[in-house]
Amino acid sequence: MAWIILGLNIAVTVLVLLFLALLAHHLYNMDRMVRWAQQPLGTPVPHATGIWDYLFANLSRHARSALEQREQLARSLARFREASQAMPDGVIYLSQHRTIEWMNAAAERYFGLDTERDLGRAVTTLIRDPDFVRYLGEHTADHRHAEPLILRSQRQDGLSLALQIVPFGEDLEMVLARDITQLERLETMRRDFVANVSHELKTPLTVVNGFVETLIDAGDDITSEERLHYLNVALEQSQRMQHLIEDLLTLSSLQSGPEPAGGDPVNVQTLLRAVLHETEVLSRDRHTITLEAGEAACILGNQKELHSAFSNLASNAVRYTPEGGSIRLRWHVKEDGSGEFAVEDSGIGIAAEHIGRLTERFYRVDRGRSRETGGTGLGLAIVKHVLTHHQAQLSIHSKPGEGSCFSVRFPAKRLTPPAQK
Ligand code: ADP
Repeated sequence: MAWIILGLNIAVTVLVLLFLALLAHHLYNMDRMVRWAQQPLGTPVPHATGIWDYLFANLSRHARSALEQREQLARSLARFREASQAMPDGVIYLSQHRTIEWMNAAAERYFGLDTERDLGRAVTTLIRDPDFVRYLGEHTADHRHAEPLILRSQRQDGLSLALQIVPFGEDLEMVLARDITQLERLETMRRDFVANVSHELKTPLTVVNGFVETLIDAGDDITSEERLHYLNVALEQSQRMQHLIEDLLTLSSLQSGPEPAGGDPVNVQTLLRAVLHETEVLSRDRHTITLEAGEAACILGNQKELHSAFSNLASNAVRYTPEGGSIRLRWHVKEDGSGEFAVEDSGIGIAAEHIGRLTERFYRVDRGRSRETGGTGLGLAIVKHVLTHHQAQLSIHSKPGEGSCFSVRFPAKRLTPPAQK
């Protein structure tokens, strides 16, 4: 009996010991699990045995997939930020309280902001322009601006921005700023151009109308000489309008036409002879005109365009050189293979401050003189466009009272020997 009781005691003791050992094992692994859970995501799971091995393996799998998801999200966010950063438009994200949450480099540049310094600050304390503050204030959930706000920057001279507020997410907003400086400049140019054309056409039209009315009112009360004089003046003015329209059409076709990539070989000597002939006709023996035709060559390009550019330069020389003056047309091929056409005159010359603007449409130093000689104010603008088409450069050297030299340089790749024609 005593043996049985002893045996039972030993069995119970062994069972209790086993139970305690199991409890200690679970408590130990639970403690490891709690510690592991407190570590950053990605920490390797502890090694274990039995059920804990299975549990840790499962945890490890979940942790890995959570880590991958997080990395994926971080990559997407980084890509999104990179894309916003690369945008040419300025982007500012605003919180519900309209403080700056994030902005890209363009926004920093446009508004003189700094990410390090200005994140978390109210946008209206940083962009204080009253128009912007009002525009933002008026932009609510119930009222959204259909039109962007045009803001002329006070920080950067001449910078014009078109601002728009775009709501997104829950009560968040994005301020988009687009640089429209260039667009505004083009619009001003377009308006000036229309005003100039109208003005140029108005004067001759008024003259023609005036003379025609006079002729009608006078009936038979004027002499035939007077009638002829009136008709001649009207004809002169209508020819002036015709020239203007021809020049406008040339300019417009030059601006809209494709640039000849290579073009046809245009024989320079033939071109020079034609230009010389026209110059002599225009001069009517009032000037000494010489031609130095230089080396035979062809320019790869458009014959009509080149003719128009060369003869515009030569006719300007005639028109701005008083009687008795001299005009030289020159061509030569330089050592580096480039070719130069130059028109030199001993005429009235041009003051330095005008030289940079001569190729602008309708820019004239002396409006009266240009008109008297049948100028439209478009000749050098045409020359500039033709030269751009041919990758050529125009240089102007001039001194008032001494004369001018307009030279055009064609790159070597635009020249070929005439034999290849
Ligand atoms: P325009 O029809 O008025 O001559 P252009 O575009 O050909 O127009 O020339 C612009 C202006 O440049 C002219 O009005 C004139 O003032 C000046 N100019 C051009 N060529 C000469 C030149 N050879 N000598 C002096 N002034 C010139």
